[in-house]
Amino acid sequence: MKNILVVILFVLLISIVIPLGISKTYNAIIEDKDIISDIKDMKIEKDMEIQLFDTKTQTVIDVPLEEYIMGVVAAEMPAKFNLEALKAQAVAARTFALYRISKYPNGHPSHPDSGLCNGVHCQAWLSKESLKDTHGKDWMLEYWPKIETSVLSTKGEIVTYNNNLIEPLFHSVSGGMTENSEEYFASRMDYLRSVPSPHEDGAPRLNGQVSLSIEAFINKLENKYPNIHLTEDNIKDKILLVNKSNSGRITQVKIDNEVVSGRDLRELFNLNSTNFKIYVLTDKDEIQIKTVGYGHGVGMSQWGANGMGNNGYTYEDILKHYYTGIDITNIHEK
Ligand SMILES: [Zn+2]
Repeated sequence: MKNILVVILFVLLISIVIPLGISKTYNAIIEDKDIISDIKDMKIEKDMEIQLFDTKTQTVIDVPLEEYIMGVVAAEMPAKFNLEALKAQAVAARTFALYRISKYPNGHPSHPDSGLCNGVHCQAWLSKESLKDTHGKDWMLEYWPKIETSVLSTKGEIVTYNNNLIEPLFHSVSGGMTENSEEYFASRMDYLRSVPSPHEDGAPRLNGQVSLSIEAFINKLENKYPNIHLTEDNIKDKILLVNKSNSGRITQVKIDNEVVSGRDLRELFNLNSTNFKIYVLTDKDEIQIKTVGYGHGVGMSQWGANGMGNNGYTYEDILKHYYTGIDITNIHEK
């Protein structure tokens, strides 16, 4: 006789965030809206250097801006991606760097010596020397010129909204629709709206799964939330979907008497996204959580950008698609 897995129930779809993978996502938190600086007030020298906090040596190093952007593009996006996607990443990386520096002129609380670090906390950066060490000579020969081209052909270009630098969040792959900023982070940003992302073919982490025993699942929840009390017998009745966002990601789930955000569940169970469904397989004593997408889903989808490039779109098309109502401005020509 067949044991059919009893699948259950709950459904959730969502997708959330997290980033690091094939590509990382900014560990960004949109904390407030009074950001920065009208770009007209910014003074950008042509040979501007970035004061970068090196998380390994715990020292500040000076790196020319455009050289810094090359090291970010190499660290944050696969170099095999379409050149237009790399160019979009370069403009986003330049925008993010200047955004951070403008927002934290006296240092970031996590690294007071500088507003910008070279870890995923801000945006990952690798020096040319470390890229040679990690990727080897053949990679450098094949891909470094492409990375240089992506940066130099967009030199000085940044993304603005109402003349202000944006916080250009991005993620690996959305699963078909990006997310409104306020559904995952604290603040609504008018340029971070949910949009379709139809060109994500080939993304290796489009679908993911986390499996654990029912007991382990219950223990994790009860350890974090003392008000939650579940048993194998009642678990199917005690987990209810409360809210999904319009993009299909789960924003709230009621577990026993506790309402838990999709983001918190994502972090607790290390899910690829908040676009998830929970299956209770009682005959296997297993919980399976299946996800669609990889990352928080807000802003530019990197795999979507690559697909747009492969379908003939330019980096400007890509940026304007994923960041609503923005302009692309050159800091040297403003
Ligand atoms: Zn940082």
